[in-house]
Amino acid sequence: MFFSVPVPKNEPIQSYVPGSTERKLLEQELQKLYDQQIEIPAIIGGKEIFSGSTENCICPHDHQHILGHYHKVGHSEISQAIAATNQVKKDWSEMPFYHRSAIFLKAAELLSTKYRFLLNAATMLGQSKNVYQAEIDSACELIDFWRFNVYFAEKIYEQQPLISPKGEWNFSEYRALEGFIFAVTPFNFTAIAGNLPTAPALMGNTVVWKPSGTAVYSGYYIMKILQESGLPDGVINFIPGSGAQIGDSVLDSPDLAGVHFTGSTGVFNQIWKRTANNINLYKSYPRIVGETGGKDFIVAHKSADVRALAVASLRGAFEYQGQKCSALSRLYIPDSLYPAWLDHMTEMLSRVKMGDVRDFGNLINAVIDKKSFDNIKQYIDFAKSASDAEILWGGNCDDSQGYFVEPTIIKTNNPNFKTMHEEIFGPVLTVLTYPENKFEEILSVCDSTSPYGLTGSIFAQDRNAICMAYNELRHSAGNFYINDKPTGAVVGQQPFGGSRSSGTNDKAGSALNLQRWISARSIKENFVPATDFEYPFMR
Ligand code: NAD
Repeated sequence: MFFSVPVPKNEPIQSYVPGSTERKLLEQELQKLYDQQIEIPAIIGGKEIFSGSTENCICPHDHQHILGHYHKVGHSEISQAIAATNQVKKDWSEMPFYHRSAIFLKAAELLSTKYRFLLNAATMLGQSKNVYQAEIDSACELIDFWRFNVYFAEKIYEQQPLISPKGEWNFSEYRALEGFIFAVTPFNFTAIAGNLPTAPALMGNTVVWKPSGTAVYSGYYIMKILQESGLPDGVINFIPGSGAQIGDSVLDSPDLAGVHFTGSTGVFNQIWKRTANNINLYKSYPRIVGETGGKDFIVAHKSADVRALAVASLRGAFEYQGQKCSALSRLYIPDSLYPAWLDHMTEMLSRVKMGDVRDFGNLINAVIDKKSFDNIKQYIDFAKSASDAEILWGGNCDDSQGYFVEPTIIKTNNPNFKTMHEEIFGPVLTVLTYPENKFEEILSVCDSTSPYGLTGSIFAQDRNAICMAYNELRHSAGNFYINDKPTGAVVGQQPFGGSRSSGTNDKAGSALNLQRWISARSIKENFVPATDFEYPFMR
């Protein structure tokens, strides 16, 4: 390695307090984007393609307001995108790591400065995030992914064989995979949308990127930033459109070398099955990385600080309307703490406001679309009519102006109640109380109730209780928190991902993830080759 990547620092979170410069600049950008409509093309081999078959990009909190139209790809554009990856594959994979890195470091710099407010405003309007949720996602996390991935990649490339005996030289080359990577991204994090195509690209791969239909708007701006950073045409090809149509065509290509997916468990399972059925078609075994759903928990012990528990419950369950894979959705609380916890929750929730993202007083905004609204409402209606559950808070849904679902708390005495094990992906928290002397039993209930294993927390001040939860919940969560909410993982601090039905746990934002996008070649050079076939023992 002839250069060294400095240890990155996490991008500082800007405050947006009233009167701050960043708030003024962001408000200007929000106004500008709100007042215009843009046409969003597919971008294939660097060329903008307007197919003419369009969908609207809307504000979920004001669903009649149109931010733009995106052009969906069909079969011919999908084939063009795959062809584009093949065309530039050789040049890109042979470009020295220093130059590839510089492109993503430049993108991080552009996002940190020139485009910070644009991408935050696009994320706020298009995905209905409040300013803080946008800042930690579309600015800080994406900048961190781009900077830290370069650092982690260098650490991988530095790993070389321990021994080169006298007269020989051993070397490991970390090749890009043969073929292209299919990046499929979810609606809920702009940072994930930016990371999934770029992490494999950094390692020398070319990519077909299918953004989520409800996040094409911010995705398009990410693509423009990458182009301005010098990403060569065809390295990442941006193809909005139908998930099933694009998925099926792309997965049927013999050149598929990997899938980098984040989204629901159901869609990931479909992808996995299709690649399995196609196994004889592919030139190599595709690397399949998927980070999927969650049913994330807090277990509170009788020694927990109840105020801290309540704050973590509110933020963990309801920030970004519970649409985080890590969002708290089930809480196990000892009966002795429950009354005080409920007092804290009702006092805080009565101060929580819900509405448009442009009113900075709103903590809660809208859920992403009609499909999601209907799905969440159906769970709440189920709880309303169930004999073994009651609604403690919220429960109202209104989609007349935007897709608004009130923060909702369900209480049940049934550990297997539907909302204790199915992912809802909305602002719905289900609470179960347990006798305070049954802590060990409740850990076992928590571990076995849901098929997922993404995030979870223990709240306790008693170290023995923490230690017991740490051991008993070892496989219940890939990201485990002690006295903290289960959301808010930071690149370089808590590499993110879970196992069981939550995915392949390849930890986005770490070297573990980048390793999936390379295939090592071991090279041995012999400076003094043997000239005699006979060994000494034969003499
Ligand atoms: P989704 O599964 O509905 O969609 C994800 C992506 O898959 C979208 O781009 C969609 O268009 C595409 N898709 C749909 N059908 C497809 C097919 N047949 N073939 C290929 N692609 C297809 O998920 P979503 O609603 O965008 O996101 C929410 C889900 O993502 C939740 O389940 C959440 O837990 C999960 N998520 C997980 C993580 C994590 O790190 N574990 C992070 C964010 C979101």
